[in-house]
Order: sequence, then C-alpha cells, then structure tokens
Amino acid sequence: MTPQLVMRSIMTIIMIGLAGLILWRLQINGWGSIVWLASAVLMMVIRSPYAARNTENEITERFAVSKERFLLLLVSVGGTLLPVLHLSTGLLLFANYEAPNWLPVVGILFLVPGFWLFWRSHADLGRNWSVTTELREAHTLVSHGVYKHIRHPMYSAIWLIFLAYPFLIQNWIVGAAGIVSFAILYAVRVPIEEAMMRHEFGIEYEEYSSRTGRLWPQLSK
Ligand code: SAH
Repeated sequence: MTPQLVMRSIMTIIMIGLAGLILWRLQINGWGSIVWLASAVLMMVIRSPYAARNTENEITERFAVSKERFLLLLVSVGGTLLPVLHLSTGLLLFANYEAPNWLPVVGILFLVPGFWLFWRSHADLGRNWSVTTELREAHTLVSHGVYKHIRHPMYSAIWLIFLAYPFLIQNWIVGAAGIVSFAILYAVRVPIEEAMMRHEFGIEYEEYSSRTGRLWPQLSK
C-alpha cells in the first residue's frame, strides 16, 4: 500500500464517520442538514471524474500559487469543514436560529439550477478545467455551452450552492462562513484569471468578454 493510498483510506473512513454522525443528529439539525450533506457529496461526485482525467493533462503555466493555496484553504474551511464540524458535533449550536420546517425548500430552489450549472460548466470546460488558475497543455478558449453567455458559470454555480446553505443549516456562523469565504476567493481570483486569459488569448478573449457577463448573461446582448 502506498502512503497516498493509506492517507486516502484514512480520509475516507473519517468522512464516512462524520457523515454517519450528521445522519445520527438529524433530529437536532433538521432535514436541511441531510440536503446539505447530499449537496457536499454531489459536488465531489460531479468534480472527481474531471479531476482524475485532468491529472494527465500537463500544466504549462501557474498563476498566483501561494495566494490560491490560502484561498482554497479558506473556502474548504468555510464551505465544508465548519459545516461538517457543526453538524456532526453541535460545535456552534449557540449561533443557531429558529426557522420554519419548510425553509430548506428555498435552499433546494437554489441548488437545482446551481448543480445543473456546476455539472455543465465542468463538461463544457473539459480538459481546460482546473481547481487553480493555470493554463493546461493545448489550452483552448471555451465559448460554447454555458460559456456562451457567461464567463464564469462555475463560479455562478458555486454562488448558488453556497447561497443555499443558510436555508439548509439554520446557523448564522455556518451560513455566513461559506458565503464570505467564497466572496473573498471570487474577488481575488477573477481579476487574476481574466488577466491570465487575456494574456493567453488576447483579442479573442477581449471580444469574448465584451459579449458575455461575468456571472449572468449580459441583458442587452
Ligand atoms: N472561471 C471559470 C472557470 C473556473 S475553473 C468558471 O467559473 O466557469 C478555472 C480554470 O478554468 C482557469 O485556471 C482557466 O485556465 C480555465 N478557464 C476559465 N475560463 C475559461 C474559458 N472560457 N476557456 C477555457 N478555459 C477557461
């Protein structure tokens, strides 16, 4: 067994254990917590085949490496670790708020388009997708599918998914942590990513930018 495989097995056992604790605490956390858990798993399930496939696709240029490590850590803590810890242990119960039993339905209304967009943006980016800001071998400018009218549909998707959290988990700290951490990543990363794309694709990216919106299609086009 390689050390990576041992680490992966330990992580999997811990994750299954934590998921079990979340299911066990359903009465305390409410049914929205199960929807949250399902959405966290679904994000991994959608992403993992693209992540696995793209490891063979060589990276030719990396941008803002140390900044990005920090930002990804921030979003992992705010968007996953904190909710998991709270839901499995009751760590932040003092910041819970009362909510009607139907409130998670509002969250699901955000999740449905969010997950459709999350899946489509991975499928449309294909070999060009990566977790960090980097260029891959034979990188092409994708401007079809969900990229036809929006430059950052994957970020639109993550916004929709994180905006659902306060409706699924009735806790001020957990609800805010995902949104605030992703807002910071978004604000720092988008200018860097767009500068990288402009540098690589020049006028083609300028033209593409002029006919698309960042998170939402341009209404006038
Ligand atoms: N910001 C995009 C993509 C996120 S993944 C979105 O929200 O949908 C990040 C990587 O995607 C970046 O490192 C960049 O290399 C690549 N990328 C972003 N937009 C792209 C495009 N239109 N065509 C090809 N690659 C793109």
